[in-house]
Amino acid sequence: MTRTVYLNGDYLPETEAKVSIFDRGFLMADGVYEVTSVLDGKLIDFDGHVKRLTRSLGELELTCPIGEGELLAMHRELVARNGIDQGMIYLQITRGNPGDRSFLFPDASVPATVVAFTQDIPNMIDAPAAKTGIKIITIPDLRWSRVDIKTVQLLYPSMGKMAAKKAGVDDSWFTDEAGRVTEGTSNNAYIVKGNRIITRALGNDILHGITRAAVLRFAREAQFEVEERPFTPEEAKGSDEAFSTAASLFVMPVVEVDGKPVGTGKPGPVATRLREIYIDEMRRAAI
Ligand code: PLP
Repeated sequence: MTRTVYLNGDYLPETEAKVSIFDRGFLMADGVYEVTSVLDGKLIDFDGHVKRLTRSLGELELTCPIGEGELLAMHRELVARNGIDQGMIYLQITRGNPGDRSFLFPDASVPATVVAFTQDIPNMIDAPAAKTGIKIITIPDLRWSRVDIKTVQLLYPSMGKMAAKKAGVDDSWFTDEAGRVTEGTSNNAYIVKGNRIITRALGNDILHGITRAAVLRFAREAQFEVEERPFTPEEAKGSDEAFSTAASLFVMPVVEVDGKPVGTGKPGPVATRLREIYIDEMRRAAI
C-alpha cells in the first residue's frame, strides 16, 4: 500500500512528496525529529514528545511553523489515513531551503520544512525480541557533545548499529572517555541490581528519553529504587538484569553485554514487569 505522508501542510502519496536538494536537513543535517509510538490507533506520550521537540528547536534557534494543536491533528490524520493500529509516526523539522548552500542560518523568512510519515509495526507489543531479550556490544561514544538535542545527524548511531550487526548482535551501547555507558544507539541504557535500577543521569551526553522519564516514574511508583549515575560495561555484566528503553522498544531486556550473559542470560523479572506496566499505563493514557 502506498503511504500517505505529510509535507508542509499537504497530505500526499509518498512517491509525490519532494524536498529541495538545498534543504538544510539534506545538506547540513540541520533539523530535529521525534518518533511517537501508536498503540490501538492512539498516540503514546504525545505531550512529552512535543515538549522535547520544542526544546530541541529552541536549542537550535529553529522556529516551528506549526503549533501543538495542529501537530496533534496532523499525527491523528496520518494514523487514520494509513490505518495504523501499532506503529510509529516520524516527524522531522529542518531549517528549510535557503536556495543555495551556506553555513550561516538563513533569515526567518525561509520557512522550515515539516515532514511526517507513519511506520506500520503490527507486533510492537508482542515483539519477539522482548521475549528472548537482545544482545549488545559496547563501543566508544564518538558523537558530538550535544546529543541531548534530537537532531537528524544519525551517522554515528547508524555506524553503531552496523558494528552490532557485524558482531552478530542486536545493538551497541556507547561508552564515554572514562569507559562508562552513556546510552544505546537509539535508546537509553539501564542495569538492575536487586531492587535498584541504575541509569545515567540527564545531561548533554544523553538524549532525555521520553520513555525513560515514564519508566523511571512507574519504577518509583512500583517501589523500585532509582539511582541516576553512570555504570561501566563490567558492572553491567555483573548485574542481575539490563535493559534499554525507547519509544519504539518500550522496555527491552538486554541479556548479553560484550559476549557475557547478564544475570541468567534471559529476560529478568524487573524488565519484564516494567515493560508490562509501561504498556498498560501508556495504553490507558494514549490520545
Ligand atoms: N537515546 C537516543 C540516542 C535515541 O535516539 C533515543 C530515541 O530515538 C532514545 C535515547 C530514547 O528516547 P525516547 O524514549 O524518547 O524514544
